[in-house]
Amino acid sequence: MSPAIDVARVRRDTPACESVIHFNNAGAALMPDPVAHAVLAHLDLERQRGGYEAEAAAQPALEDFYDAFAALLGCARDEIAYAESATRAWDMAVYALPLAPGDRVLTHDSDYASNHIALLQLARRLGIELDLVPSDAAGQIDVLALERMIGPRTRAITLTHVPTQNGLVNPAEAVGRVARKHGLLYVLDACQSVGQLPVDVRRIGCHVLSGTGRKFLRGPRGTGFLYVERALLQTLEPPFVDMRAATATGDGRYRLRTDARRFEGWESFVAGRLGLRAAVRYLLALGTDAVAARISALAAELRHALAALPGVTVHDRGVERSGIVTFTVGGEPPTETAARLRARGANVSVTASEAAPLDARLRRLATAVRSSVHYYNTEAEVAAFATLVAAR
Ligand SMILES: *Cc1c(COP(=O)(O)O)cnc(C)c1O
Repeated sequence: MSPAIDVARVRRDTPACESVIHFNNAGAALMPDPVAHAVLAHLDLERQRGGYEAEAAAQPALEDFYDAFAALLGCARDEIAYAESATRAWDMAVYALPLAPGDRVLTHDSDYASNHIALLQLARRLGIELDLVPSDAAGQIDVLALERMIGPRTRAITLTHVPTQNGLVNPAEAVGRVARKHGLLYVLDACQSVGQLPVDVRRIGCHVLSGTGRKFLRGPRGTGFLYVERALLQTLEPPFVDMRAATATGDGRYRLRTDARRFEGWESFVAGRLGLRAAVRYLLALGTDAVAARISALAAELRHALAALPGVTVHDRGVERSGIVTFTVGGEPPTETAARLRARGANVSVTASEAAPLDARLRRLATAVRSSVHYYNTEAEVAAFATLVAAR
């Protein structure tokens, strides 16, 4: 276990903590100063020297991006690619999977909307079939049902580790054991889990994992990352290739890079890459165990405080819970609750059924308030937040 978080220090690194209760970490967390400085300093260098010259000067840090993610996810640096978002990272790998007409892909109702829409397009384009694995009594993916649903044409499973729309954590490792046993490709959307939970790709057993910079990693917006297992990535033809991904050999052919950077594009937001690298280094210095322990404790306290309020319903399910706490206030539309809280200095977001179209419970509810805590939040903020929710 890493030592407990020095809350005073991380709050000093996050000046906005003084003026706002930021419970919108599942939307975009507050960047700590070292992250913001990495971005701003590079933009300034571009201004002073020119974009190419600044990039050349930043080469060591840009290379460290891959080492930092390898350390965070327990993989090799050549299995990591930079992406502009989690969605594009996921797309680059999933649109490259070797799927043929009649192949079946297992999904779950916690799937993020963008992933689901992409699968619908692939179903139409390639003639693949999607099979929806049911949830167990706790609302997480039913691993026994998953195993029973595997047939001769089942090729892949895609899962969202921590759904965007409720407080559960899907049993990613148990799904990984089933995927490996049956030789299925396993794609994990770790957009809400990397940065709040320890995520080790070898332990989970996924072949592909995608995530974003701005959420629990506390990186800049417009950044993301992709992991693809080495043996698999060398067989995948990315849906788009350019001169970063490949080299034209002059004989009417091109040669793809052998590492995961075959999924990258030539041009990118260099300052953003540097900011995301700084965010990963900041997290590694704190320790993912300490981060997870504090988020889990704060989220439990928040659920407890909200559930004790008259008229407030907490909607989270799951055996293991995440830092995302969803609730509604009786007789008040979630958009109004969120606006009322924002006006009094507390940031939350509203989760809508469109973000997770297969989630039947959320469809009945249509929307819910989504509050999400990070390690830099405090017990005092949880108490103050509950008071604000109650003060209609
Ligand atoms: C936010 C989110 C995404 C999309 O991330 P982007 O960086 O906006 O593309 C994907 N999956 C889940 C579970 C998310 O919460």
